[in-house]
Amino acid sequence: MKHLIVIPPMDDGCYVTREIGDSIYNRPPYHLNPYNAVVYATKLRDEDGQKVRILDAQALGLNYEQTKRQIRKHQPDHVTYFISAYGVPYDVQCVDWSISKSFVVSPIKTDVNELIEIYSEFPFEKDDFITKPNEFIGKADFSLVDLSRYSVPIRINTNDFCPFQCIFCCRCEMKANLKPVEDTIEEIEYVQERYGINKFFLFRSEISINKNLAMQLAEKLLERNITFLTLDRVNLVEEDVYDVLYRAGLRDIHFGVESGSLKILKYMRKNITPEDTVRAFEIVNKFKDVNKRAYFIIGFPTEGLSDILASIRLSWKIAPDEPMVEVLYPDVGSPLYKQLKQDKILKTRRWEFYKHYNRRTLVFKHKRYKNWQSVNVTRYIVMLAMELRNIKQTLAKTTHFLPLQLGETE
Ligand code: SF4
Repeated sequence: MKHLIVIPPMDDGCYVTREIGDSIYNRPPYHLNPYNAVVYATKLRDEDGQKVRILDAQALGLNYEQTKRQIRKHQPDHVTYFISAYGVPYDVQCVDWSISKSFVVSPIKTDVNELIEIYSEFPFEKDDFITKPNEFIGKADFSLVDLSRYSVPIRINTNDFCPFQCIFCCRCEMKANLKPVEDTIEEIEYVQERYGINKFFLFRSEISINKNLAMQLAEKLLERNITFLTLDRVNLVEEDVYDVLYRAGLRDIHFGVESGSLKILKYMRKNITPEDTVRAFEIVNKFKDVNKRAYFIIGFPTEGLSDILASIRLSWKIAPDEPMVEVLYPDVGSPLYKQLKQDKILKTRRWEFYKHYNRRTLVFKHKRYKNWQSVNVTRYIVMLAMELRNIKQTLAKTTHFLPLQLGETE
C-alpha cells in the first residue's frame, strides 16, 4: 500500500502548529523538523510493511494547490494529513477528499467530536482521526525526511506522559508509553553522522518528570559531544540531576514559570509556588553558560493588577536570560477550554483566532481586558518591565568598561 503523509503549507507566511509545541518554537525564521510525522511513517513502514513517503509542504515552500497536485502525482492509496486544530479551514485546503484519508490533529488530545461539530462545513468523519498518543511513540527514521531543510537544533521528542493537571495545557494527565532511551540515542547518532549536527531540542514532557529516564539519557549523552535545549518544571529541579544534564550538554533550559501570584498558580493548578521558581533558578544559575528562559502567562480570568506586578517582581528576582510573556489561550484539549465553555464566557469556538503565537487574542470574556489591543498592550508592557532588569544589568556591565571621566579615580 502506498501511503503519503502530508504536512500542509505555511499559513499567512507562518509555520503552523502541527505538532505539540510548534506554536511557540516553530516560527520563522526558525523551522522545526516534524517529528511525530516521521515516527508515524517509520511505524507504518516497519510494522505494516507500507510504502511510505512524507510530503512536507512547509519545508518545500508549496502552496495549497501545488500540494494538492503533488498528492495526485504520488498516486497514493491513502493520505494522512497532519493538521492543526487552530488552522483547520486553512490546512484542509490541500486535502483531496476523493482519496482515502486520515487526520492527525495537533494537539493530539483535541476533542475530535467538538472539532467535527465546529467545522461541520467539511466532510470529516470520526474514524478519520488518529488520536492515540502511542502512535507517535517510537523511533524516528530520519532518512524519511531531508533534515537539511530545517533549522538547527534538530527536534527529537523524548517522552510524552504527564501526571500534572495544569488547566491551560492540552497535555495534562497525558498517558503514553515510555520511549526507550536507546531510541533517542540512535536518532541523535544518525543526525550527527549523516548531517554533522550536534545541537538538539529534546522535547515533550518536562525532563525531570521522570528523573530516572533523565539520568539514563544524560549519562548516555556524555559520550556524544552534543549540546541541547529542553524544558522543565521548576518544582522538580535537582542539582545532582542538573549536574549530569549540564555535563551531557544542556545549554538552554526553558521553564513554565507562568505567574508570580500564588492565587493565579492555584487557579491554573500548576502545582508550583513562586518559591519553587526562585529555588530552581538558584540551582540552574550555578551553570553560568546555560541560557534560562522563563515563560509567563497573562490573561487568566481572575487576574488583577497585583497578580501582574507579582509576576514582574518574580521575574526581576530570578533574572532569566529570556523572560517571555504569553497571552492565555484555551488549548483545545485542555480543562480550561471546557471550563470556559461551561461558564459560558467563551466568545468563539472558532479556534483559528489563536492560531498564531503573536496574534492571539482573548477569546473569552475578561473583566480587565475588553479587546485584543488591551491584552496585547499589557503583554508588551509586562515584557518590557521584565526586560528592564536585563537592560540595567547589561548597562552596568558596559559602563564598567567605559573610560574614566575627568576627575574620576579608580
Ligand atoms: S504544562 Fe503542566 S500539564 Fe502541561 S506538560 Fe507541563 S506539567 Fe504537564
